[in-house]
Amino acid sequence: MPTPARRAAALRDLLNRYAHEYYVLDAPSVPDAEYDRLFQELQALEAAHPELSTPDSPTQRVIGKVLAGFAVVRHVVPMLSIRTETDTEASGAATFDARVRRELALTEADPPVEYDAELKFDGLAINLRYEQGLLVQAATRGDGERGEDVTQNIRTIGQIPLRLHGIEAPVLEVRGEVYMRRDRFEAMNERQRELIAKGAKNEKTFVNPRNAAAGAVRQLDPAMAAKRPLSFYAYGLGDVQGWEIPETQSGLLDALAAAGLPVNGDRAVVAGADGLIAFHQRIGAKRDALPFDIDGVVYKVNARALQQRLGYVSREPRWAVAHKYPAQEQMTVVRDIGVQVGRTGKLTPVAKLEPVFVGGTTVSNATLHNEDETRRKDVRIGDTVIVRRAGDVIPEVVGVVLDKRPAKVGEPFDLYKQLDGKCPICASAIVREEGEVDWRCSGGLFCPAQRKQAILHYAQRRALDIEGLGDKLVDQLVDTGVIRTLPELYKLGVAKLHELERVGEKSAANLLANLEKSKQTTLARFLYGLGIRHIGETTAKDLARHYGSLDRLMDAGIEQLLEVDDVGPIVAESIRTFFDQPHNREVVEQLRAAGVHWEEHAGTPPTVALPFAGKTFVLTGTLPNLTRDEAQERIEAAGGKVSGSVSKKTAYVVAGAEAGSKLEKAQTLGVTVLDEAGLRKLLDGV
Ligand code: NAD
Repeated sequence: MPTPARRAAALRDLLNRYAHEYYVLDAPSVPDAEYDRLFQELQALEAAHPELSTPDSPTQRVIGKVLAGFAVVRHVVPMLSIRTETDTEASGAATFDARVRRELALTEADPPVEYDAELKFDGLAINLRYEQGLLVQAATRGDGERGEDVTQNIRTIGQIPLRLHGIEAPVLEVRGEVYMRRDRFEAMNERQRELIAKGAKNEKTFVNPRNAAAGAVRQLDPAMAAKRPLSFYAYGLGDVQGWEIPETQSGLLDALAAAGLPVNGDRAVVAGADGLIAFHQRIGAKRDALPFDIDGVVYKVNARALQQRLGYVSREPRWAVAHKYPAQEQMTVVRDIGVQVGRTGKLTPVAKLEPVFVGGTTVSNATLHNEDETRRKDVRIGDTVIVRRAGDVIPEVVGVVLDKRPAKVGEPFDLYKQLDGKCPICASAIVREEGEVDWRCSGGLFCPAQRKQAILHYAQRRALDIEGLGDKLVDQLVDTGVIRTLPELYKLGVAKLHELERVGEKSAANLLANLEKSKQTTLARFLYGLGIRHIGETTAKDLARHYGSLDRLMDAGIEQLLEVDDVGPIVAESIRTFFDQPHNREVVEQLRAAGVHWEEHAGTPPTVALPFAGKTFVLTGTLPNLTRDEAQERIEAAGGKVSGSVSKKTAYVVAGAEAGSKLEKAQTLGVTVLDEAGLRKLLDGV
């Protein structure tokens, strides 16, 4: 056992290092819960041995530093921290109320204290200085005395008014939190992951919205900061001159809202401990549904007069407390790394964890997103990792705590090696195309993980067109085990359908009739219906036209496939891989055996010139006689292509009634515009 003095010194060093990573570098290496735990241990040690307390202890001051490159702003009124109540139960609120009453020397006979209860936004504190109603400066908290001038970056946040409504006081400093919404954070990280996968250097993903927001605000290039979607909520004041401050915290928030500042609506004026507890519970229940992270709620004595009586201790006001919720990030150990197959065949590495309570539930699996991310974070079996679960987002591993890596740790993650190149569900080959983030299973038609998707895709209107076979029914058919493979669709009988909930007699009969009807199809529809990656409707049509027969197509090599119009290496590779999977071939045979058929022909290599070959048409507006689909079919039958957008390469735009911007664009670009009659004439000339 180290002596208390040694332990205190070790804790101070560790906390100072973590604080530096968190406040200065915006890159924490441990979760907040771990920092808080060590912080409390130090606080307890210092309380038990006051002689161990040093003035530079993290418990005695607000930590943080001005980043080189920013001008320093000296805060007229220091920006403090808030005392944290880490007891996440109701008792945490009662403790605070009891302390306030004691410090105000209230007795049981006195009425309950009135509090303003607010959300504790998990972002970073900003001081906005308005002079004569105009925003003149924005600064971070820094060490509480001196912060960074981030005015340029803050000005890019649209929500922050550059001029206040109706307040022209010489000085009004508004304090609040800059944060990033969860959806924007997820979208931004997704984009970052793609950029990294495409080989972009100097790009990274962010651990959580708080760090993303802090990084954006403290970004030296305002243009970069502007690209990070930030938001703001006001919650308090700094320096004020020439403005009468409302008498309560709730009144202040009303006034700030009236001045045009964003103020969060989830706040309440409550009485005593019971009121605080009710607020804590109410917000706790809706925490996951909020669009942004909160790490707790803040209780503030509502009356300013009482706040002044209570005053401050070293780094925090006595009249406020942050009452936390279970942390959204925790540390735990990776027992194993598995790979999950999604419904579209995407393979996702998943960490199997020592179960951990995070974000209000016990988590034992967390996504690692993809192979590159797993390697970049260097997550290995045996590692201690930070797991994040916020809102309804799938729990994820945000990083490794390298300090805690054991001597004996797993190998760097290698998805292909781990799976031996085979889908863990159906053993089909796995592929990762160039420039793609994900590995995929190529057994799309057969793989049980992709069954629902395969059926839905096959049944689409533009594929086999099986009306009545929608999401819900497919879920039921697959979940109840009635259908295990795509061809089993054609074995459905009235009796089987009747066993299902919500399938009436009439809809069962209709579905069976539609299934029967779907058997008579075209090669193009069938090909499209197989759901081969990169084979959209147009490519399916090109392939059908070129080969005329499924067998010829299935046997074509890469070189031959490349001869087909618009088929490049990626598409050719994808077709080849698909038909190289014996399981996919079996399914195709079973479908044919079930009676699915189409007319075949000898094929038309693209060299046999069709009149419209190489010509692109764009359809817009409503034609008097032909439907869109009919017009498209005729154009394609003559070898033409139909595209959705007009460019210089467009040969003709066929415009009907109420044609819009596409017609205008055609006119600007000088593309020939036809009406229906013009199109028919062209077709007749064929
Ligand atoms: P704090 O963040 O816990 O509380 C003070 C801050 O709360 C204010 O500065 C303000 O920005 C914010 N706040 C949000 N909503 C508010 C509201 N309605 N009213 C008033 N203030 C509101 O205090 P702190 O001292 O800045 O930081 C401690 C936090 O930072 C802890 O959660 C700790 O875990 C974390 N931290 C983590 C690490 C790490 O390594 N992971 C290191 C240092 C600190």
